[in-house]
Amino acid sequence: YGGIGPAAGRGPETEGGGGRPLTTIHVAASRAYDVAIEQGLLSRLGPMAAELLSGRRAAVISDDAVFPLYGALAERSLQDAGFQVEHFVFPHGEQQKNLNTYGQALNFLCDRRFTRSDLIVALGGGVVGDLAGFTAATYQRGVAYIQVPTTLLSMVDSSVGGKTAVDLDSGKNQAGCFYQPSLVLCDPALLASLPEAEYRAGCAEVIKTAVLFSPELFQKLTEAPVREQFESVIAACVGMKRDVVENDEFDRGQRALLNLGHTIGHAVEACSNFTILHGEGVAIGMAAITRAAVEKGICNPALLPQVLDILQKYGLPTEVPYPLADIQKAAEADKKRSGSVTNFVVPEALGQCRVEPVPAGEVAGWLKAGGIR
Ligand code: NAD
Ligand code: MG
Repeated sequence: YGGIGPAAGRGPETEGGGGRPLTTIHVAASRAYDVAIEQGLLSRLGPMAAELLSGRRAAVISDDAVFPLYGALAERSLQDAGFQVEHFVFPHGEQQKNLNTYGQALNFLCDRRFTRSDLIVALGGGVVGDLAGFTAATYQRGVAYIQVPTTLLSMVDSSVGGKTAVDLDSGKNQAGCFYQPSLVLCDPALLASLPEAEYRAGCAEVIKTAVLFSPELFQKLTEAPVREQFESVIAACVGMKRDVVENDEFDRGQRALLNLGHTIGHAVEACSNFTILHGEGVAIGMAAITRAAVEKGICNPALLPQVLDILQKYGLPTEVPYPLADIQKAAEADKKRSGSVTNFVVPEALGQCRVEPVPAGEVAGWLKAGGIR
């Protein structure tokens, strides 16, 4: 695994569309598609869907926090473009990303006689996107779907790249597949209603992307808050995720880099019984692994204060609130470990990280170096 530098990134293309400029990032994965990013774009969902797809029935899949806010606008746009629209709405929250909800979604489509030429629209955060994507991937062996992400995390991360899943009792994302959407429609206006904690959690993934790939983005994040520059920050993050996905769509190598901060982060989340948000866990994990990497002589020491500083600026935690033994136990249960080796993503410098396979016997030493006692 080599780190990839910011030079690998192609910038977003800017196109005319409906008289207004439309930022579009093209993803050349096993299915090629565009990520379109623009304030107010939700009202153009219908025409954009109609241009791409021949079917004229659409099922909007959403959760009960998002649908009341944006469902009507999405449905009206689809109807005005000639779609007959139905909706499947389930209770919000990670607990609902399960086989039961997934089964209900499949039966919903079946009962209403949806066919393979029809369309699924995922309107929501990562929970909706993952579940609706897995439903689309498997209903009648695959129907087209459009991601309409409504959280910062889902705009910069989960809606792009085609990972779909539901959780099993044994853990998160244990049943799923790779299945790319036909379009990702990002409307930053939808973020106005996002709860503050969810905004912060999304910022943690944005900071992660900057530490991984881009000193320029990192600089941007220190100059002004993400919320004052949603469009350009989302475009930058999507562009970098696109590069990773194009190089390693099926997660056999470089895509693992996106787990920066996630090994320790997941362990912290698990220790908290998931009362600590994923983004907060990632922030803590990034701080800890940067400390460890500096301690081990892998990372430029100048990076640590920069990382701690920006996380604190965004109101994110940086200290591991659990003892070493608990973190170690939780980290060992993490599915990312391959055999007896734990793959830590470690920073070397700002914009450059690598995957470090750490043998089981050395994990505790790494955690200690990360400041966990
Ligand atoms: P989420 O979907 O649960 O959304 C967080 C909360 O915000 C929910 O209660 C939701 O109802 C609410 N919400 C969403 N949009 C809103 C809006 N605009 N206004 C008001 N409330 C809104 O969580 P998330 O953080 O978006 O996604 C987390 C999920 O994403 C996890 O299940 C994770 O496994 C998955 N994920 C997937 C990938 C991938 O590549 N597929 C990557 C990262 C994370
Ligand atoms: Mg994450």
